[in-house]
Amino acid sequence: MIDFSQFDSLIAMTTYFNNEEVCKNAIIETRWGVGEQQDVVCPYCGKHHIKMSKSGRFHCTACNHNFSCKVGTIFEDSNLSLVKWFIAMYLISSHKKGISSHQLSRDIKVTQKTAWYMLHKVRSLYAQNYSEVLSGEVECDEVYIGGKEKWKHASMRTPNTQGRSTKTKTPVFGMMERSTIINAKGEEEFMSYVRAMVVEKTDKAALLPIISQCIGEGSIVFTDELNAYNQVGEMGYEHRICNHGALQFVCEDDGSVYTNNIEGFWSHFRRMITGCYHDVSDEHLQSYIDEACFRWNTRKMTESERFSQMFHISIGLVKPNREFILCEVA
Ligand SMILES: [Zn+2]
Repeated sequence: MIDFSQFDSLIAMTTYFNNEEVCKNAIIETRWGVGEQQDVVCPYCGKHHIKMSKSGRFHCTACNHNFSCKVGTIFEDSNLSLVKWFIAMYLISSHKKGISSHQLSRDIKVTQKTAWYMLHKVRSLYAQNYSEVLSGEVECDEVYIGGKEKWKHASMRTPNTQGRSTKTKTPVFGMMERSTIINAKGEEEFMSYVRAMVVEKTDKAALLPIISQCIGEGSIVFTDELNAYNQVGEMGYEHRICNHGALQFVCEDDGSVYTNNIEGFWSHFRRMITGCYHDVSDEHLQSYIDEACFRWNTRKMTESERFSQMFHISIGLVKPNREFILCEVA
């Protein structure tokens, strides 16, 4: 099996994955094993009666389908070389603030349109894994994205669109678990994990079901004073409110009542949007949020760990997960 820890730099990765055969073998070995242990499963009928042709394609003698190692992966419908795909995945995952389609097109010599398609496909790998529940201390917060009214000429502005208005902005809700990891030196280090999603409104009906799905019972939930959160304390959580209106970002008690961590994520997200993607349509906003969450949650991983996780997601073997555990995709 391939040792992904060797891909700690772009040069190490491209030196290894330097032709189509090597890339294909990496997919085949990772999906179905190596040598005697290899067990190719037909994606159409689930049987194991598979023959491999000289061209490297597979034939299922049970249902007569032919398929390649790309079936069921993000590369399936693409004629682009896997070498370019792998480099693209590496570049996209290692640029902390994202990479534009213009930059990617220059880096791997494809058209800007193709680069845009690749970015779109790779971004689909970042879809959040809602089966991982947040617990312990969890900060919740909401922001409004888009509609840069303040930059428009006064005559072009939509009236009453400042603050929490949703006329020209889209509400986004986020939750962040305060956690720790053991770093390379064996020391405990602060870490936080985020989930965020586009919501229709920021009222009780929209937010409370999300909280109850994503945050484990018994957790301590920190929010601002928005009315929507009023019943959080009755839902099996310890609810602590931080009063932004009174300019108390850190208030009362032991100093733990704040939502500064998730606010840090929002500013990271805004920088990614304005710095790299300039503006984002509502249609694609959730996929940019997913990308920002993936970057945040994997920010303490090494380049090779992040690439390994992306590779395994791209061929459908795992969903994004915080410690990158190889497990079956449900
Ligand atoms: Zn079959």
